[in-house]
Amino acid sequence: MYRTHNCGELCEKDIGKEVILSGWIQKKRNFGSLCFIDIRDYFGITQLIFSRKLVDKKFFLGKEFLIKIKGKVVERSSKNNKIPTGKIEILVSQIEILNSSLPPPFSIENKTDGNEKIRMTYRYLDIRRNPIKNNLIIRHNLALEIRNFLSKNGFLEIETPILINYTPEGARSFVVPSRTHVGKFYTLAQSPQLFKQLLMIGGVDKYFQIVKCFRDEDARSDRQIEFTQIDCEMSFVGVTDVLTFFEYFIKHLFKKMKNIQLEPFPCISYSDAMKMYGTDSPDIRFGMSFMELNNLIKRKNISFLKEQELVIGIKVTKCHNDHDQINFFLKKIENKNIFWIQYLPDKTFLSSNSDFMNEEIMRIFINHFQVTPGDFLFISYGKKRKARETLGKIRLEIANLFNLKKTKIFKPLWITDLPLFEWNEKYKRYKSVHHPFTSPKEEDIHLLEKHPESIRSKSYDLIINGIEIGSGSIRIHNQNIQNLIFKHLGFSVKEIESKFGFFIKAFEYGTPPHGGIAFGLDRLINLLEEDDDIKNFIAFPKNNYGKDIMIKAPSFLKKEKLKELHFR
Ligand code: ASP
Repeated sequence: MYRTHNCGELCEKDIGKEVILSGWIQKKRNFGSLCFIDIRDYFGITQLIFSRKLVDKKFFLGKEFLIKIKGKVVERSSKNNKIPTGKIEILVSQIEILNSSLPPPFSIENKTDGNEKIRMTYRYLDIRRNPIKNNLIIRHNLALEIRNFLSKNGFLEIETPILINYTPEGARSFVVPSRTHVGKFYTLAQSPQLFKQLLMIGGVDKYFQIVKCFRDEDARSDRQIEFTQIDCEMSFVGVTDVLTFFEYFIKHLFKKMKNIQLEPFPCISYSDAMKMYGTDSPDIRFGMSFMELNNLIKRKNISFLKEQELVIGIKVTKCHNDHDQINFFLKKIENKNIFWIQYLPDKTFLSSNSDFMNEEIMRIFINHFQVTPGDFLFISYGKKRKARETLGKIRLEIANLFNLKKTKIFKPLWITDLPLFEWNEKYKRYKSVHHPFTSPKEEDIHLLEKHPESIRSKSYDLIINGIEIGSGSIRIHNQNIQNLIFKHLGFSVKEIESKFGFFIKAFEYGTPPHGGIAFGLDRLINLLEEDDDIKNFIAFPKNNYGKDIMIKAPSFLKKEKLKELHFR
């Protein structure tokens, strides 16, 4: 028998019991003739006490040795109220080493001295630490909650293939050479997109899958090349049905996991988001939406801005921060088609762009924005897109500078009506903003020939605190429209047939209207736990260069293996 109890459960009511425990040595201290050891397992830590005579000199006990002990539960003289087992200790009568250990390469404690590289090389040791272990437990609980909730609401979890053919979904795919079919390749699924649509055609009313997806992109702290999606699809739905249900879903998860009651999610169109925040993933924890100033400029005849396509501004109220930091920031943004005005507490003004600026102009802006002493104005001008993008970035930097990104506050919003296409300058053709299976808005289809870039799609993103957590759309369910969209994306009739023949064919058998969404599970946990690195919630993540430094993947293949795969 390895244990009668685990290392996290014994407490005062067990005093007097004879117990057997097994665990790893976390700490060892000698006090005169007595020896204290903390042993750890998945469940917690228990303190052991024994006479040094019990272990003879040759019997070395080092950190991370795995031991089994027998002993009696006794009351501790100096109690530790921070841990559940802190009121007792085990007076050990027998010790057995189950396995020895090399000295660990970093300290296996909540706060470790190990850097990321060493922790990832020995990830199994890292997982022994509470912060990582607890993250894996949180992930498990979240996944369980998702499964239960979706199942209760009529969604069926169905696995779809990973080894498929290339599907254009916006990213590069990983390819796998086939051994048995000379010269042919599989690609790893970027998402179950086509299969979940085929399930709808197959009459499955609601589908979900917690699924690994693979995208050959540069990894980052918020993106892995191999990641997990909560992938969902529903039949007989329109945009409002999907948004309503999944708002309920996300609210449920926040309530269950964090006991947070989210407010109703605002819903704004892509074009409004760009106009108000200069980005399609705005962080709305802090206000500062853009104010358009072209009319004011015309009315007040401010000559140096009159010719600009767009002039927009934001007001930053009550900025308390280190003056050096503010000045550094103001210097950094000089010459970026942007200027600032500061209304000082003594009611005088300061401004950049002083060549063009005078007291009268400053007063016009100050009055327009109803600025009070201590506030800043930032005004961006130029071509529409650029002016918005610049002010959008400044808005975020200001939020960081003035600590406006409140923690423990979650502000979700839906962004809808994203454009169907965007122009790809490199390939001189249009590409889908979401993916080619996204339905255009009916009222915009007539723009297909002349202004494809103006077509809005029935797509939506869920943004929380400036992070894209989910994205989806109502799909095309009409064969002609699907063919038309493929054609506009530059696919020839032959290509459409060879790549999507099976899919287009399925459209001939009574395809139901359908739509869905996929949420990034890694990102969602990261957000819920207010962490800034998704690697902390993945048992065996890749590093930011897409490498697994423990197993040393990717790696070279031996010649014979390459030959088997038909590479010369
Ligand atoms: N398949 C899409 C994606 O992975 C999500 C969706 O449209 O449901 O981004």
